[in-house]
Amino acid sequence: MLVDADLHIHSRYSKAVSKLMTIPMLAENARFKGLGIVGTGDILNPGWEEELLKYTKKIDEGTYERKGTVFLLTTEVEDERRVHHVLIFPCIEAVREMREVLKRYSPDINREGRPHVNLPAAEIADIASDLDILIGPAHAFTPWTALYKEYNSLREAYGDAKIHFLELGLSADSYMADRIKAHHGLTYLSNSDAHSPHPHRLGREFNRFKIQEALFEEVKRAILKRGGRRIVLNAGLDPRLGKYHLTACSRCYTKYPLQDAVAFKWRCPKCGGTIKKGVYDRIMELADTEERPKDRPPYLHLAPLAEIIAMVLNRGVETKGVKRIWERLLREFGSEIRVLVDVPVKAIGETAGEDIAKAVWAFRNEKLVVIPGGGGRYGEIRLPEEIRKVSLQELDSLEVEVSEEEYRPKQTSLMKFLRGRGDGA
Ligand SMILES: [Zn+2]
Ligand SMILES: [Zn+2]
Repeated sequence: MLVDADLHIHSRYSKAVSKLMTIPMLAENARFKGLGIVGTGDILNPGWEEELLKYTKKIDEGTYERKGTVFLLTTEVEDERRVHHVLIFPCIEAVREMREVLKRYSPDINREGRPHVNLPAAEIADIASDLDILIGPAHAFTPWTALYKEYNSLREAYGDAKIHFLELGLSADSYMADRIKAHHGLTYLSNSDAHSPHPHRLGREFNRFKIQEALFEEVKRAILKRGGRRIVLNAGLDPRLGKYHLTACSRCYTKYPLQDAVAFKWRCPKCGGTIKKGVYDRIMELADTEERPKDRPPYLHLAPLAEIIAMVLNRGVETKGVKRIWERLLREFGSEIRVLVDVPVKAIGETAGEDIAKAVWAFRNEKLVVIPGGGGRYGEIRLPEEIRKVSLQELDSLEVEVSEEEYRPKQTSLMKFLRGRGDGA
């Protein structure tokens, strides 16, 4: 069977997370989004563990379920150098043992969702291995709290300790991460890191697993690429929409080419804020290959449907009008992926109006203008004026030139690289 899974989210116990992040709410929204499996996130927090046990039924040691949504035991921890790691547990006993061990090194493990642990990455990975917990770097390339802001290689961070996957993060995709040869043997995870259950957050990135059943052991085998189980698709935001894609000021969000940021000593000349290195520039610094591993699954670039609707209506993405149309489309066609990728635009037009159908057409044909994110601000999509003006029927004969300069000042190599990928994703 094919199951879509989002394995990294946060509960209401983490800082800056919506109060709506409860187990029942997650189960309901996952179903709407088409996710079969969701990571609990934050499971080292005792309150969140209690809530999981209260609202779900245990399927096996590492698998819980509520109303058709399967939950796996996952968390994120922050190490002594403020690097984040994702953990996936085989059973609740392993969660409790890990909590016992880390307690000595963590002042906030009982109240925070994502605990800070005063241990190096390698030691956390060793403890994880002893307890059969899967571990890998979270959002590996982001500039505040990720592996590559601190180290130049996986080995520098983890030494000889074993890791099982690498999480790409919203600002990168497989094509970018594969520019580093040391990643080629590793499974990539594309997870949302959602802080709210809204449809443009939960499941905005997911992994499609080919497994026998929606169970922890099956997911584990897929991550380790054993017994024919595997991830057949990584789906996620167009990396340009991520918050840290380009190098930019973290206060006023002005974007800078890397050499300018270096010349300004990472101090924004406009506002005095700190300039943060974008994921794109960080990967290009480390890139050591143009080859790709043969078994890498395709990567599907998405823009959240709710954001496409919000763009057309020119309204906030969490407003009622946007939600109403999103729900209507989902009721009619079953899942967000189907609406974004498969359903004929004419049918979308009949359900949600011609303007939204045109926007979906533009998304599919890569005609949306993307204004990349950076410095902590998400990228944005815009519908070109030419498309707004014509009717649905006229679209296919329309020539829209989306110039690269509009969204990628001075750097075009990544776009060329993505276009040349030739895997039909
Ligand atoms: Zn994180
Ligand atoms: Zn600035």
